Amino acid sequence: MTEAQAIRNRNFGSRVTYSPKVFIPLTHLCRDKCGYCTFAQPPARVQAPYLSADEVREIAFQGALAGCHEALFTLGEKPELRYPAAREWLDERGYESTVHYLYAMAQLVIDETGLLPHANAGAISKEELSMLREVSPSQGMMIESLNADLDCHRGAPDKDPNRRLQTLADAGDLSIPFTTGLLVGIGESRDDRIETIQAIADLHNEFGHIQEVIVQNFLPKPGTMMHKKKPALESEYLETIALARILLPNDVHLQAPPNLSDDFSILLQAGIDDWGGVSPVTADFVNPERPWPSLNRLRSISEDNGYFLAPRLTVYPEFVRDSAKWIDEKLRFPVMDRSDSELLGRDDPGSIFPEKIEFVTNVNDGAEVAQVGEDSTQWYSGSSTSPANLLLNKTKPSKEIDEILNEASEGQDLTEKQIVKLFNARGGQVHTIVSYADSLRESVNGNAVTFVSNCNINYTNVCTFKCKFCGFSKGPLSLNLRGKPYLHSLEEVIARAAEAHANGATEVCLQGGIHPDFDGDYYIDMCQAIHDELPDLHIHGFTALEVTEGAKRLGEPLSSYLKRAYDAGLRSLPGTAAEILDDEVREILCPDKISTEEWLDAHKTAHEIGLRSNVTMMFGSVEEPVHWARHLIRTRELQRETGGFTEFVGLPFVHMASPIYLRKGARRGPTFRENLLVHAVARIVYHGYIDNIQASWVKIGLDGMKQMLQAGVNDVGGTLNGENISRAAGAKHGQMLGKDQFEELCQPLGRELIQRTTLYKTLRGQDPQRKHIPVAAE
Ligand code: SF4
Repeated sequence: MTEAQAIRNRNFGSRVTYSPKVFIPLTHLCRDKCGYCTFAQPPARVQAPYLSADEVREIAFQGALAGCHEALFTLGEKPELRYPAAREWLDERGYESTVHYLYAMAQLVIDETGLLPHANAGAISKEELSMLREVSPSQGMMIESLNADLDCHRGAPDKDPNRRLQTLADAGDLSIPFTTGLLVGIGESRDDRIETIQAIADLHNEFGHIQEVIVQNFLPKPGTMMHKKKPALESEYLETIALARILLPNDVHLQAPPNLSDDFSILLQAGIDDWGGVSPVTADFVNPERPWPSLNRLRSISEDNGYFLAPRLTVYPEFVRDSAKWIDEKLRFPVMDRSDSELLGRDDPGSIFPEKIEFVTNVNDGAEVAQVGEDSTQWYSGSSTSPANLLLNKTKPSKEIDEILNEASEGQDLTEKQIVKLFNARGGQVHTIVSYADSLRESVNGNAVTFVSNCNINYTNVCTFKCKFCGFSKGPLSLNLRGKPYLHSLEEVIARAAEAHANGATEVCLQGGIHPDFDGDYYIDMCQAIHDELPDLHIHGFTALEVTEGAKRLGEPLSSYLKRAYDAGLRSLPGTAAEILDDEVREILCPDKISTEEWLDAHKTAHEIGLRSNVTMMFGSVEEPVHWARHLIRTRELQRETGGFTEFVGLPFVHMASPIYLRKGARRGPTFRENLLVHAVARIVYHGYIDNIQASWVKIGLDGMKQMLQAGVNDVGGTLNGENISRAAGAKHGQMLGKDQFEELCQPLGRELIQRTTLYKTLRGQDPQRKHIPVAAE
């Protein structure tokens, strides 16, 4: 067990997964008769041979409402070959076989609830496996034992080891992520168990398709042939789990059910890294006398043993990552739609239902999407749902997180690997990270929460670029669902800026599409015109893309172009157009936009001529935590060189009306945990480099912002009179906030709201000597 646990820790760290699932017992009829089984029943003992479509729908719906991700279909093997009642039931409804009915019900469940089916259809043929691959992202069948002479299997033709091995091999050949396993204590020997584990390992070495192996202990059940037999010996059970961990290839996950052991924490010490399916709704129909532990108990027992719980999907991340090979094309989006950034199951409380779009209307500033069907109740960026309070989770010691934070506190720059580990934190680990980030925030920014009074002018939505996430631009390849193309005249831009200035704005933020008719001087002329009219208004404008494109269109070196812009009144660049600073991701999100190198170069050049800028990161669409880590490291390195970044701004992806989501190519933005962690980890990574961490209330909402302010965030950004871009992607939060609303946010937290300039100088009327607030030269 010591060796097994060490292997498990090396491969999977402190992570232990489970699958929130609902159990759908499609039929209790089975042509086999196994000595330990209470699941199989004769027709006289069941109300109907199969669950009806309505019953399936209702069970799945309850599961989806309770926040499950998986619909586990369990069924007997080929009951229609033994029971005429089953054959007649299928004939009357036009189904060729039980597997055909399963196919139809799995499809129904995906369409109507979005739950991901896991089909457990037994020793079926290659054709049947192939058919189910279209509706079930993963499938499973226990090998049980390779001993062909077990008494318990005398009446079970489908338990023939060769047939089961054939099914496993066929699944491999068809690239089906597959779950299998063995039973301990049904009369088999230690050698039989080792032989079974070895056979599974061999098949995985050949096909790479075994996602997990379940080691399950026999418990005698009343009413079965084996009711008087002794349960599996604990020592044999634990030894089998440990042997499985040692003998199986390292990438195969190992599962043991928590409800079949009185003290299930010991299973972690034997080497498991997965608790299997745990249902908040249905009983364990295979072991109805052993209810599942509550999630809270599972979490706290895991954490007490140094492991942190994460919900997963029915198919493991390793297979989702290579979905072109492992997952049927039609299932890739339903899987992605429930995934978080680690390709595990989204972990916000509440339910997710597939978004069915009835129509999309053009409104002036973008698209409005009309949805029909059940509303999802999970938090996502831009929604009006309040997130769960993750700060209530208690800190639990975690060696790997503590070691990283110790290094950070000694002033070490964190590495990519360390940063990824912080992003992957769960449960009590999240609290540890967030508390540390908050303490750094306090040491740098004191009690202050800053904001800037600004106005956003998105002067045109016409754009020649084709960023796939952008719901704002009106371009040739648009989904044709955006608002009318517009271009404000210079007079209009000045009038808007003047109005905002008269209302107290100190900053005008200028961003827009890349209009095909602009030459580079357009941007400079706009700065000059605003600056002439409103000389004390800070011009924060033009993304790295806009200035790079402006200089390019004039054939002018970027540094001389930016110098002219500076002379015309430009003072800082917004850090947008960064999205994720990793070309692997940019290739998917915005292939024709500036590269990572060009973005960094534009900011470096800007810093060198005296402009300031910020770092933004749009996260939660297609990328993984490793890309966030690279983004933070690349910008940290530039900051070390130039010192020109004033703040980091996290921009959670708003999916609702984003073309890439509507085309089924992205996730639903980050989960709230990811959102909290991105800002907290940014605070830690940038400590000593960038003093200000800003969260975007437009995307996070004020309720979520309360937690953000306790997770390393010291700045709430701008009042944003006139923001259109987030709204164009479907965000529901308003267009403008006043100082009073920011006050309401800060007061309960005992924090002081302070108005700042763009470059973090406190404004007159505030105490300029206020401790800890960095004052940058304007
Ligand atoms: S993100 Fe910017 S560059 Fe990309 S399409 Fe939208 S407006 Fe154009």
